[in-house]
Amino acid sequence: MNIIMLGAPGAGKGTQAAVLCEHFGIPTISTGNMIREALKNGTEMGLKAKSYMDDGKLVPDEVVIGIVKERLSEDDCKKGFILDGFPRTIPQAEALDAMGVEIQYVINIDVPDETITKRMSGRRVCENCGRPYHIESLKPAKDGVCDDCGGTLVQRKDDHPDTVLARLAVYHKETEPLAEYYRKQGKLVNVAGKDTVAATTEAVLKAIEA
Ligand code: ADP
Ligand code: ZN
Repeated sequence: MNIIMLGAPGAGKGTQAAVLCEHFGIPTISTGNMIREALKNGTEMGLKAKSYMDDGKLVPDEVVIGIVKERLSEDDCKKGFILDGFPRTIPQAEALDAMGVEIQYVINIDVPDETITKRMSGRRVCENCGRPYHIESLKPAKDGVCDDCGGTLVQRKDDHPDTVLARLAVYHKETEPLAEYYRKQGKLVNVAGKDTVAATTEAVLKAIEA
């Protein structure tokens, strides 16, 4: 099963991807996490991406397309994968099609902008493995500590309010048109994501009949 998670920043793509990852036993490929990892490791790509990311802008298509292509060629992707945060532009979607990968479902998590801006201030992420949390709606067992790996939970620089607004604007302009792109391909499933995490998960699993 090959799945794409679509939706605004903070819509809950990563959270639902983690559920599907467990459910199907397939890896999540998060371009955001991969770029942050590259940055942490001080790679050339990471340094190049930093300025875009910190401003809430998209990293250039050719950079992300390159890292996704490489990642999808690894062995653990053979039995399926979940793409979280890619594609984010029409050229990225076209590049994915050109790679010859078959996508079964594109799950579009729909959340109003007002809800997004409220949510983002409480979002935390594991510094080590990238798993997302929320200080109210998705708490770890122990405050500030990742359930999966024991890593420290931090607030991302690009989750600060001004940057969130910039990211939302980019989302509406560049990423939202992908819903129509995949609707035409017959792959789009729309899921309401404004309520609880559990309600969204239920809707996601139902939509793909898992
Ligand atoms: P969110 O899903 O909350 O927006 P991500 O962690 O997926 O957060 O992405 C954070 C940032 O990483 C984006 O704002 C962008 O700068 C960069 N990025 C991630 N994926 C892509 C992509 N597919 N194309 C371009 N930039 C990307
Ligand atoms: Zn972790």
